[in-house]
Amino acid sequence: MKLRLRPLPYEYGALEPHISATTIETHYEKHHRAYLEKMHDAIAGGPLEGKPLRDVVLASSGDLFNNAAQVWNHDFYWCSLSPEGGGTPAAALAKVLGARFGSVDAFKKELATAAANEFGSGWAWLIKASDGDLKVIATTDAENPLKAGHTPLVTIDVWEHAYYLDYRNERAKYIAAYLDHLINWEFVGENLGI
Ligand code: FE
Repeated sequence: MKLRLRPLPYEYGALEPHISATTIETHYEKHHRAYLEKMHDAIAGGPLEGKPLRDVVLASSGDLFNNAAQVWNHDFYWCSLSPEGGGTPAAALAKVLGARFGSVDAFKKELATAAANEFGSGWAWLIKASDGDLKVIATTDAENPLKAGHTPLVTIDVWEHAYYLDYRNERAKYIAAYLDHLINWEFVGENLGI
């Protein structure tokens, strides 16, 4: 059986020239799908079979958590990117980011730093923490903010598979392209309820 991934919200080539069609296709069809297949194999016949993905993430640990969280993280990442992304956020979101970080540019700098400094494979996030504060955090491997009770608002995948074909070892260039051309501000606003 071919398991169904949640559909990508755009065509493989929609993020070019910033992320190539080859990168998106490989990342989605190979990496993302492999996590889904491994998760499926691990929960087949058990109490988590058929449960919503978020519940599997919250209820699991070890290898199952790693695969389930990577399915969830990638679903969230695809939505964090948009062909119409980058530029400046809507006024309401700019105000919220400005109030917390000083300015939209200061927020972008903080996210870029977190993404650049995550050693090895991982993710950088803007979250609404369980105490209500907005924070930039990084997580390692498959870890995500859900388990700690935080609300993810946007993410960037900094595993090498996300950028190596397009940027080789230059993670900073990929991060800059994401922040300047791809970050889906509308998605951030929706997740914040503004
Ligand atoms: Fe990835």
